[in-house]
Amino acid sequence: MIRQKSFENEKATLYVVATPIGNLEEMTPRAIHVLESVDVIAAEDTRNTLKLLNYFGIRTRLIAHHQHNEEQSANGLLELLRQGKNVAIVSDAGYPLISDPGSVVAKKVMEEGFNVVPISGSNAMLNALVASGMNTRHFLFYGFLKAQEKERIRELHELKYYPFTIVFYEAPHRIEKMLKSCLEVLGNRQICLARELTKKHEEFIRGTIEEVLEIVDDIKGEMVVVIEGCSEEKDPSQDQAAPLVHEQIKTYIDGGLTTNEAIKRVAKELGLSKNDLYKEYHGLS
Ligand code: SAM
Repeated sequence: MIRQKSFENEKATLYVVATPIGNLEEMTPRAIHVLESVDVIAAEDTRNTLKLLNYFGIRTRLIAHHQHNEEQSANGLLELLRQGKNVAIVSDAGYPLISDPGSVVAKKVMEEGFNVVPISGSNAMLNALVASGMNTRHFLFYGFLKAQEKERIRELHELKYYPFTIVFYEAPHRIEKMLKSCLEVLGNRQICLARELTKKHEEFIRGTIEEVLEIVDDIKGEMVVVIEGCSEEKDPSQDQAAPLVHEQIKTYIDGGLTTNEAIKRVAKELGLSKNDLYKEYHGLS
């Protein structure tokens, strides 16, 4: 067990600083103060962050910390903390670690007993959720679905019976394919597509997946997709996913697992009963 009393020790600190997702006025005074006072800022893209720092007149030393060098750069940041230096980590927009780099270094820093302190700010998921009109009592943030269709469909089957709101990030060039996959697997649910949050062209498009697909060609910019949860009960025997599930079992068998091992693994991955899947696979149900 490790207890961290963030402001009651002399240890060096890694500050996880949220930055604006569009509107620079969402930069908080606390975030500015922390970025001014740390010894080093580790940024996902130093050119992007330099613009932000210049805007606020912050002159702190900037180093790169991106996805491709996360492991190596985490070790470098740890070394700075060991020397007693305070470090801030920022991503291009919003919170580091949320569909952005940072989790590797944060974990290592905690494990070595240094402080990890969050500095609040803007985040695309929460902005989209609170203005979506969907159930906010319980929700799942999924982030990006896989780009490859087969894998995306499989991920969606895993989410199909989730009864609460689900929030996805998506890139504009993939939104049409993503919504078509959602329609195919989840059905024609209510969604809210939130685009260009906090910016001049901010827009919320609330309707069914089919309705949004009709205008998808006109939808540009950064976007978040909020989808209502499932209202049906899970019934594996009625599951349209059966062919895909069989295909996945076959892939594992081709990969060297026995049929039983493959069924067990797929049942675990999809949250299905092993016995039900066994019966269904062998045509016994
Ligand atoms: N770390 C960020 C956060 O805390 O929200 C998310 C970074 S992720 C790499 C980028 C994705 O976030 C975009 O593809 C989009 O789905 C969403 N996003 C970021 N800024 C946005 C904005 N202004 N409006 C809508 N979506 C945004």
